[in-house]
Amino acid sequence: MSNHLFDAFRSRMPAPGHLLMETDDGRSLSYGEMLARSAQFAHALLQLDVEPGDRVAVQVEKSPEALLLYLACVRAGAVFLPLNTAYTLTELGYFFGDAAPRVIVCDPARAVDIGRMVEPSGAVVVTLDRNGRGSLADQASRLPSDFHDVARGPDDLAAILYTSGTTGRSKGAMLSHENLASNAQVLVEQWRFTSDDVLIHALPIFHTHGLFVATNVVLMAGASMLFEQKFDPARIVALLPRATALMGVPTFYVRLLQQDGLDRQATKTIRLFVSGSAPLLADTHKAWRERTGHAILERYGMTETNMNTSNPYEGERRAGTVGFPLPGVSLRIADPDTGTPLAQGEVGMIEVKGPNVFGGYWRMPEKTKAEFRADGFFITGDLGMVDTDGYVHIVGRGKDLIISGGYNIYPKELESEIDALDGVMESAVIGVAHPDFGEGVTAVVVRAPGTQITGAEILGAIAGRLARYKHPKQVIFVAELPRNTMGKVQKNLLREAYKDIYA
Ligand code: ATP
Ligand code: MG
Repeated sequence: MSNHLFDAFRSRMPAPGHLLMETDDGRSLSYGEMLARSAQFAHALLQLDVEPGDRVAVQVEKSPEALLLYLACVRAGAVFLPLNTAYTLTELGYFFGDAAPRVIVCDPARAVDIGRMVEPSGAVVVTLDRNGRGSLADQASRLPSDFHDVARGPDDLAAILYTSGTTGRSKGAMLSHENLASNAQVLVEQWRFTSDDVLIHALPIFHTHGLFVATNVVLMAGASMLFEQKFDPARIVALLPRATALMGVPTFYVRLLQQDGLDRQATKTIRLFVSGSAPLLADTHKAWRERTGHAILERYGMTETNMNTSNPYEGERRAGTVGFPLPGVSLRIADPDTGTPLAQGEVGMIEVKGPNVFGGYWRMPEKTKAEFRADGFFITGDLGMVDTDGYVHIVGRGKDLIISGGYNIYPKELESEIDALDGVMESAVIGVAHPDFGEGVTAVVVRAPGTQITGAEILGAIAGRLARYKHPKQVIFVAELPRNTMGKVQKNLLREAYKDIYA
């Protein structure tokens, strides 16, 4: 048997000397070096008694070695389990307890504390720092640079990725070799990646966006990347002329638009800008097009499913939509309660099925069962609709739906109206417990810099445009919306902060 995912990468690998990545501190790594060094890391894992299916939990800063460790896990048949670098020791305790890893790779600064914490479990703790040094790297450097990949089939686990925790506690999504391989192949074709491409990679690599969408696409195309430890807008603008593609969260694009140097000249060599992980405001899409001449391609995915939909490479990239289901992905809009498919144009639960969809939540059989329909469709938790041209629109998360006075209110509809007003930068509309209405519609608004729009003005502007039951009961101004590392607005924090305003 072969190693399903790594064989897929191998079969598309360019010449050994071809550049895989260049880092912001001037290091470079070719495909040949990637093969040799991931082999060394794979040997190191075997020396640590990692067996096929064992979890290797990794909380390290972004570095080429961290990526080599991912590939080493794939090659050694282990399950790669990356963790957000922001997690505290207490939070890590939950993940280690849940995942029961064989090996934990962490920053040297944390090794003692983590070692003490996991001692009873027998997990082995090794280190890797932001420069790619540490006990694991030392061990690997002494080991052979060729490795016989451990046999893994399409359904074997390649990774467990925890969801972003935007709506509650993160869940471990079990992703198979085929989930990852099939999605990367589809994206390479859809987005026309080749070995000539140079992607600017400034995303974290503990999340599906930076790890699987960005990195797997590069590997599957034999392309190159400029591997940035963090997102620095001025640096990105300077790098653009050396690149052909950029993948980012909406906040990247908002912040890049604040850079003077961003213009048509700076983006001349780029053939593709991709956005995802959170909704891209139609305004941002428009401003980007005016400044650079490029239409950002928005796509939609989640940790559990990899990518589900994408705007077209050729054809209209429609702002405010996430495009069409990818080849091989079946997508339907269903009644959230019954799962019955709804007519075109109706808003309901987005459900998906395909080789991209995960096998279930790690050690949560009940939760897994509850999130799949009997016919195998996964209930994404996102509400949306399909327009007459087939474009998928996301109207928000099911958990953010507001029920006020017995009516369903989709926050996105209000947010779009409010965001379009002069004087508003952005907004988040939430439902807050209300004695009369069940939930009171509440708008949390960030003013545009230097403007003084009032709550009354906002309400006045909406009055003629939206039915009365949708009107906010209160408008609250804030300096900025709370966001997590992936740029997602944390509505649960807002609901918590304002939970008593109607009490
Ligand atoms: P948790 O499941 O732990 O609450 P999360 O859903 O934010 O966190 P992820 O798997 O990182 O964790 O994010 C997937 C979600 O991100 C999707 O379900 C969807 O709500 C949102 N999303 C991704 N891409 C887009 C997009 N282009 N437009 C709107 N929302 C998007
Ligand atoms: Mg989710």
